[in-house]
Amino acid sequence: MNANFNLDSITRDNVRKLVPYSSARDEFSGSNGVFLDANENPFNTGHNRYPDPHQKKLKEKIAEYKGIETKNIFLGNGSDEAIDLLFRAFCEPGKSNAIILPPTYGMYEVAANINDTAVKKVLLNNDFQPDLDGIMNAINKNTRLIFFCSPNNPTANSFQSELIEQVLEIFNGIVVVDEAYIDFSFQKSFVSLINKYPNLVVLQTFSKAWGMASLRLGMAFADEKIINILSKIKPPYNINGVTQQIAIEALQKTEKTKNYISEIIKERVSLVSGFSTIKLIKHIYPSDANFILVKVDDAKSVYNYLVGENIVVRDRSKVELCEGCIRITVGTKEENNSLLNALKNYKQR
Ligand code: PMP
Repeated sequence: MNANFNLDSITRDNVRKLVPYSSARDEFSGSNGVFLDANENPFNTGHNRYPDPHQKKLKEKIAEYKGIETKNIFLGNGSDEAIDLLFRAFCEPGKSNAIILPPTYGMYEVAANINDTAVKKVLLNNDFQPDLDGIMNAINKNTRLIFFCSPNNPTANSFQSELIEQVLEIFNGIVVVDEAYIDFSFQKSFVSLINKYPNLVVLQTFSKAWGMASLRLGMAFADEKIINILSKIKPPYNINGVTQQIAIEALQKTEKTKNYISEIIKERVSLVSGFSTIKLIKHIYPSDANFILVKVDDAKSVYNYLVGENIVVRDRSKVELCEGCIRITVGTKEENNSLLNALKNYKQR
């Protein structure tokens, strides 16, 4: 519990006072009728009507699946949209700051820059865990957001949950726990703590385990008051109708997603054992995600060689603490075998 947290005091004035756009479908939400209210095309193309701006049915399915209430769910056009809206809601341009823990997901800093918010960087330690003292020292009266990415991109490890909880207890701004990769991890999700901490926002996504990156659907879970602010400032129809429908169907047959997850975890294990036989790989970092970070002799040259073999990985060698590293997404068995074969045939030039 964090008794000193006061959401009103960190919400931007203009956002607090904002009267949100009221869409035609806010005023009437019945399903039968002659709809002449929204300037839509009346001919049934399958897509001629605006989608539900509140994503009611989809949220009901997500709530049931996650064991939470719909009032604690915000849906965004990818979790990237939720990240941007957190800055818009809580960071005063030119005044506020946000803390990020590099090496981490690049969009936190981009979203901060877009919203003219200073970024304070507190490097992870050598075990890729958050530096609690560094975070405590970096917090000042203008700090509004702290981003914990767990499992972290690109390092693939999970953070110790007690460290995050200690920050939740004392920080009077918003603590974001980005769980984009949680489905590939055996760690407990922070979603179960949204009723304990009024300053906690948990991000998850349909882009990874659910296999729907192209549909753009991200989730934010938080106290109802935070959800209401994000809902107030989002574009009214941010989740399109096709996405809503396909996600509802996926939530009706979750077996498929569970199979993806177990297959990817199985392949992660066999990739790690394949990597351990390859000389040019100097270190394999433990992974709780659907990707693996490895240290190699000459990352740039390995990257270029793989591109020449039609295999694209991510060169992270310029990223602080990831010197010499490439990040490799777990693919299908066939894709992973092609990668392992290519790496076996790599000759240092
Ligand atoms: N968070 C992390 C840690 C990510 O790695 C990514 C995507 N690479 C995202 C969020 C964005 O996810 P989405 O597709 O839901 O916008």
